[in-house]
Amino acid sequence: AERAKGGVGLIILEGTAVHPTSTAFGSKLIWTFDERSIPGLSLIADGVHQYGAKIFSEIFHVGISNTGMDSRLPVWGPSDIPDPAYREIPHQMEIEEIKENIEGYGKAAENIKKAGFDGVEVHAAHSYQLHQFLSPLFNKRTDEYGGSLENRMRFLLEVIDRVREKIGYGLALGVRMTGDDLTTGGLTLDDTKTVAKGLEATGKVNYLSVSVGNPFTKVLQIAPMYVPPGHIVYMAAAIKEVVNIPVFTVGRITDPVLAESILAEGKADMVAMTRALIADPELPNKALEGRLDDIRACIGCMQACAARFSALRGIGCVQNPAVGREREWGAGTLKSAEKRKRVLVVGGGPAGMEAARVAALRGHDVILYEREKELGGQVNLAAKLPGREEVGSVARWLEIQIKKLGVKVVIEKEVTPEVVEELKPDAVVVATGAKYVKMGFTGFLPGLPFIPGSEQENVVTPEQILRREVKAGRKVVILDEDGLIEPLGLAELLASEGSEVEILTFLTHVGGSLDFINRGMVYRRVFDKGVKLTPLSYIKEISGNTVIAYNIYSREERIIEDVDTVVL
Ligand code: SF4
Repeated sequence: AERAKGGVGLIILEGTAVHPTSTAFGSKLIWTFDERSIPGLSLIADGVHQYGAKIFSEIFHVGISNTGMDSRLPVWGPSDIPDPAYREIPHQMEIEEIKENIEGYGKAAENIKKAGFDGVEVHAAHSYQLHQFLSPLFNKRTDEYGGSLENRMRFLLEVIDRVREKIGYGLALGVRMTGDDLTTGGLTLDDTKTVAKGLEATGKVNYLSVSVGNPFTKVLQIAPMYVPPGHIVYMAAAIKEVVNIPVFTVGRITDPVLAESILAEGKADMVAMTRALIADPELPNKALEGRLDDIRACIGCMQACAARFSALRGIGCVQNPAVGREREWGAGTLKSAEKRKRVLVVGGGPAGMEAARVAALRGHDVILYEREKELGGQVNLAAKLPGREEVGSVARWLEIQIKKLGVKVVIEKEVTPEVVEELKPDAVVVATGAKYVKMGFTGFLPGLPFIPGSEQENVVTPEQILRREVKAGRKVVILDEDGLIEPLGLAELLASEGSEVEILTFLTHVGGSLDFINRGMVYRRVFDKGVKLTPLSYIKEISGNTVIAYNIYSREERIIEDVDTVVL
């Protein structure tokens, strides 16, 4: 409803299940095949319709990408080839099970219609069941559902027949399909053009939505900031050339100017956005009003949406604190202050600027002090990691907004008690941020409050490197203490400047807390630069240029010599 209010024309609800064997994401899928889902779906449809938007729902079976083993049901797949990510050996579906699933698609579509939706989208992409049947990577059948492309398309076409039969012609019916598997042995763009033509030829499909992603190309499915915006538009354009029904495109399109140019150049008929509208539900209205500066753009960080989603938590957004809290904090919820106060914000990082922005929006008189030359705080450091410049737009957006709202900004001035005395604010917000701690304390050696040697000059924090306060030497050891992006980003940076870099971590893998998409992408980048990753290891001691590392399980020690710089 928040996105509909923000001006979105068509909302497509995520994949909903067509059969009990389709479980994933901690069994949190909506079971649209079950009539009990209708009242909840109606609430969603009504919530969206009240703002004039249309709503469709995807329907799918996850096939072998089954992560919800708590269902106690077997994993159903085209063949007995497991998904490399989930690894459970699937049961090769019998013909009657395929027919049972086709009925499930029909039933789900019927329930979606009863709930008042405007359309149904059959999901045949992202390596879910129908994509698995289409792709020779996972379909090794020898019956009429395997072998030739014509046979591999049969299941999808039978689903289309059944769904159209159930919903009639009053509702739209679309298909989400992959544009190219980009994997040796998988579907090619030529194959998908044939699929597209076959779908159009049924006369039952109103549009095609072209996406990308299988277990080997997942990093492109929800592409992080390392991937350029609009990276798969060419696939939609190629498919659009061979069909006459509308074609949708998607893929890190966060800027309405880019979206408009895609339409104007005839590369697609509709632009789909997901994270762009998570970050700013009001993007369409702001674009319509020409307020491009006011759009809070998704930066492709994955930190609060995909990472939380894959950890089975509700999503948020690093750009927008209202995400997941729309009822309390969404558009139109901010109340004007009863009494205008003088608010002093100390610190011009993202937290300070957001506090200043909200206080100013509520009508307060706000003054913000920042010690550094520029606003942005640690965001400015994070943006210095290779390929992560886009992080900087978090600070840029906030800076533009607070200036527009008349917040008085004072830079290069530290706030002392005297400054507070002089300004006499009614309220002070302390948003001075966090500091790196150069000690390396770990629960593995709880008696040791710091790593011996951590006080040495050649032992530094990421901040010192990124601020160029110290120059890393030829041989560098980085200790990954949190499993996030910084150690990997820093390793890539230093390796590209000529250092030989090894990252140690006590986790099972370096970057172990990162979402799987960023991890896949960053691993490629650091391996390309020759960075060595050593998991399950920690530092016992640093002595001059010698680092004593140990395996946290075997306690076996390894001496790393001639280390110029250690980053904690
Ligand atoms: Fe985009 Fe990051 Fe927000 Fe996700 S958390 S929507 S990737 S800005």
